[in-house]
Amino acid sequence: MLRILFLYLSKAKWANNLITHWGFAWRAASRFVAGEDNEQALIIASQLNSEGFRIALDPLGEHTNTTDAAIAAADEIVGLLDKINQNSVNSYVSIKLSQLGLLFDETLCYSLLKKILLKAKETGLFIRVDMEDSSITNKTIETTIWMRSIYQNVGVVIQSYLYRSESDVFTVLKELIPVRMVKGAYNEPKEVAYPNKADVNENFDKLSQIILKSNLKFQKLDSSPLHPPILAIATHDEPRIKNLLDFARINGFEKLDFEIQMLYGIRRDLQEKYLDLGYPVRIYIPYGTHWYPYFMRRLAERPANVWFFLSNIFK
Ligand SMILES: Cc1cc2nc3c(=O)[nH]c(=O)nc-3n(C[C@H](O)[C@H](O)[C@H](O)COP(=O)(O)OP(=O)(O)OC[C@H]3O[C@@H](n4cnc5c(N)ncnc54)[C@H](O)[C@@H]3O)c2cc1C
Repeated sequence: MLRILFLYLSKAKWANNLITHWGFAWRAASRFVAGEDNEQALIIASQLNSEGFRIALDPLGEHTNTTDAAIAAADEIVGLLDKINQNSVNSYVSIKLSQLGLLFDETLCYSLLKKILLKAKETGLFIRVDMEDSSITNKTIETTIWMRSIYQNVGVVIQSYLYRSESDVFTVLKELIPVRMVKGAYNEPKEVAYPNKADVNENFDKLSQIILKSNLKFQKLDSSPLHPPILAIATHDEPRIKNLLDFARINGFEKLDFEIQMLYGIRRDLQEKYLDLGYPVRIYIPYGTHWYPYFMRRLAERPANVWFFLSNIFK
């Protein structure tokens, strides 16, 4: 119930307006969000780089509904690519298509993407397209395939809670597009997504293994050193990580054949554990003033976070 409530609140404009005006809300959100601008996020990214972590920076924003806001989001991404390059930060950039106007003006979105891809090409940096709710899964996959035809250093995200995901995995692997495997963070009806956690977990393991097995073919065709591995498993669920590590070991894969990704502010102990064991660990660092929906999704994932949020009222 709490999960559904917070996922509803993540999309409710009235709640966004209300909650973002409470000072304590930002105090609580800043556990998961690295700052309100890229300067603060880059400082944290460099610090984590020096500890050995790879980074994915996420300039927060989604469901943009004006041309000006979409252009501003693209400008932020382009500026971030420049700063990552100038400061030699080991990071790529994660973007959301709805932040670039996909939902109200596809032509605008594609022209902004071209601008971003040009900068990515110039700086040699990788762009990951985050996956949003199932109403735009098709468009996200189609657009990522189009992006790859312009600049090959792009990747996508697949959600194991969707029934369609196995077929999507084969579609993107055919195009040699690297995948970040996640469980899925949105509220989806049982017509499109597994309602039971056990099924989501089983599908996560199965799809991760399919992707990893495609690795050898992928490496032969694309050996660019800037390209991240074909598979990143993005989870804080240790059994998911252990299952993949076992599968990789039994099948002769090496530690560098895949990445483990986790979110900034969540399970720091696990992040350090797998880094110390010699696996590549990438931390996803969101930043920016549009932190509200991201923060609500993090509250939805874990009831304990709600108490943490409320405890900030009294601080
Ligand atoms: C790097 C990265 C990128 C992502 N990108 C996307 C994307 O593009 N699209 C998308 O739909 N989803 C994305 N997600 C979110 C993902 O779909 C899940 O919602 C999220 O990772 C929680 O699921 P879990 O795999 O950690 O497992 P769960 O079973 O939800 O959690 C396992 C354990 O992890 C810890 N944990 C999980 N979430 C939290 C939290 N919020 N606060 C504190 N502890 C927590 C708890 O200890 C929990 O018991 C991403 C996640 C990561 C790590």
